[in-house]
Amino acid sequence: MKLMLLAAASTVAVPIAKAADRMLGPRGCLFTFHRAAPPDRWSRLPNRNFYIDTAFLDEFLTYLRAGGWQMVTVEEAVRRSANAESGRYVNFSIDDCYRDSYELLAPLFRRHDAPLTLYVTTGIPDGTLPLWWAGLEDALLDRDRVCVGEERIELASWDDRRAAYHSIASSWDGPDAATHYAAFCRANGIDREAMHWKHAISWDMLEELARDPLIEIGAHTINHPRLSSLDSATALAELEQSRKRLNARLGLDVRHFAFPYGRSGDCGPRDFELARQAGFHSAATSRKGLVLRGQDQFSLPRNTINGAHRNLAAMAMHLTGLTGAAARIVGRV
Ligand SMILES: [Zn+2]
Repeated sequence: MKLMLLAAASTVAVPIAKAADRMLGPRGCLFTFHRAAPPDRWSRLPNRNFYIDTAFLDEFLTYLRAGGWQMVTVEEAVRRSANAESGRYVNFSIDDCYRDSYELLAPLFRRHDAPLTLYVTTGIPDGTLPLWWAGLEDALLDRDRVCVGEERIELASWDDRRAAYHSIASSWDGPDAATHYAAFCRANGIDREAMHWKHAISWDMLEELARDPLIEIGAHTINHPRLSSLDSATALAELEQSRKRLNARLGLDVRHFAFPYGRSGDCGPRDFELARQAGFHSAATSRKGLVLRGQDQFSLPRNTINGAHRNLAAMAMHLTGLTGAAARIVGRV
């Protein structure tokens, strides 16, 4: 079955990829995502597009190896782009960092002998950033009903749980999300502290990962703000303090940064400059596209993998840069 899928994807993707090789020459493609789940669990998750199915990821890494793509760190991607080296390379980075980065993703990448970059929001292992989206999703997964304010929501099916997640999350999203979540936890008997550590990555896990030569650690702020919405001093503090916190806690020189949210409204030229001032060597956005020679290293493009796009042909579109070109045409950058 897996081989058939690979073959089917190849009939679409290979001719496009060959044409892209002739036209584009050396290039890098940086992928990013947040969480992962095994396929049986993935299909039940209320916010499943936030997760990659580990079976699909396994298949994709096999496909990339077979297709001659080299898997590199961000450090190496930046070096290759600056030196205009030949070849095709990919990088995978995870933003925020949850417990599954340690439990599922690091082992999977190790099996493929592939590097993995973790852009850590330090408020997660420090326990200071409320993971309301993870706690809400977990509560919906386990219960037959939940109370939200005065309302009681019945959860009879997986579709109900998905619908409830999206309506509650969109009503909470914003500066008061943590307050809404705290009230929700009280109303539904949820231990907020225990829920946090069920989903957060811990410093112990990060210390172990930081010793793995395949793991590259980068920063992703302390509190996960939209940097463009902050004044320069506050934005710079988020950049500098997250770098210092990781350096001190893990004994590393953290050189790479990823902007929270990362689209064009979320970070701009001022923020690229602040990342440089904060002492980083590169900064990555979530704007689709390829790393070609001469790429500015403080606005690296990255292609977000949506968990719903579980097919190799969709990934091949990223590898050829077609999704980036399409995003620019329709203004979704
Ligand atoms: Zn993030």
